[in-house]
Amino acid sequence: MSYKPGRHFLQLPGPTNVPDRILHAIANPTIDHRSADFAALTMVCLEGMKAVFQTRGDVIIYPGSATGAWESALVNTLSPGDKVLTFDNGHFGAQWAKVAKSFGLNVDLIGGNWRCGADPEALAARLNDDRGHEIRAVLAIHNETSTGVTSDIAAIRRAMDAAEHPALLMVDTVSSLGSIDYRHDEWGVDVAVAGSQKGLMLPPGLCFNAISEKAIAASRTATLPRNYWRWEDMLEANRVGFFPYTPSTNLLYGLREAVRMLVEEEGLPNVFSRHKRHAEATRRAVRAWGLELFAINPAEFSPSATAILMPEGFDEAELRAVVLKNFDMSLGSGLGKLAGKVFRIGHLGSINDLMLAGTLCGVEMGLKLAGVPHTPGGVAAALEWLTT
Ligand code: PLP
Repeated sequence: MSYKPGRHFLQLPGPTNVPDRILHAIANPTIDHRSADFAALTMVCLEGMKAVFQTRGDVIIYPGSATGAWESALVNTLSPGDKVLTFDNGHFGAQWAKVAKSFGLNVDLIGGNWRCGADPEALAARLNDDRGHEIRAVLAIHNETSTGVTSDIAAIRRAMDAAEHPALLMVDTVSSLGSIDYRHDEWGVDVAVAGSQKGLMLPPGLCFNAISEKAIAASRTATLPRNYWRWEDMLEANRVGFFPYTPSTNLLYGLREAVRMLVEEEGLPNVFSRHKRHAEATRRAVRAWGLELFAINPAEFSPSATAILMPEGFDEAELRAVVLKNFDMSLGSGLGKLAGKVFRIGHLGSINDLMLAGTLCGVEMGLKLAGVPHTPGGVAAALEWLTT
């Protein structure tokens, strides 16, 4: 492979760019994970993650990818044959449903359009029909990374409350946490799922559950088999700063730094408005190019990722290959049934105006080189927004 000058542009909707500060923190020497220094590190990370999830409840940190945290949410709280209700809104929702089925859960889908978010009214109708309260959990994706659509979790909670339904609410915050406002306690979420490699600006390798008292109570009677993911063991060890097995010590150094940056230095409200501003600039570029946003409801446009439909007859994989070859930039692919049809721009994590401008330049030049029909001027439209 020949030398590529400059930095690679990692504009996937995760993994995202890891700031040098975090890389340096991760490069600290690995320490004894049963030492007092390690316990202090754990405590800072756990407290910091409570702030990020906006919860006073417990947060669990696992070595693992977010798919593990999906599994953990289910196996800790449910029993074989339990009914769970979820939404057919995108690739990651479908993947979580697949995990649930593989554990013998009875998964019911609320049909949907992948271009829209989870529908609280359709949920209300299902819950009102479920007079015997057979549905034990409702699963929703806060930000569907495959479509660039954000769902209204507060509205889902309101629908559950209005139906006086006792099901647990489980929410995937993998591409929203640390980039889109997510309020675990205020929205009454029982189990949240997250990963390290997106808004938290870390490499892949950590995953999280934020859990309510109600979820902990459910875990005491749930009978799905579990060992690695068992909350009880984790909570007990965490109380004194330890883990039931060898933790990802170096990633925890990185997490401590990331939380400092997000919560103490930039401040979460500023982080959220930065993401919204960059998402709007990106959409302005897309519209100026004459391309179509995949998401259709403005209230559901994702602040962290934008999915763009390719014109008929053009393949997103070819466009991405041209962009990678010529400009050393990775863009997100079309996932599941959107393969070939949609490409995605990630604008989450550690990104500033010039990085976004560079990203949009790469896309505009790529569209030209790949012969994709478009109108030049998307970058100019984005810059205009960024400077007003
Ligand atoms: N949920 C969402 C919304 C995602 O975007 C992803 C990955 O991109 C996952 C879950 C799965 O995460 P992981 O690949 O870390 O297992």
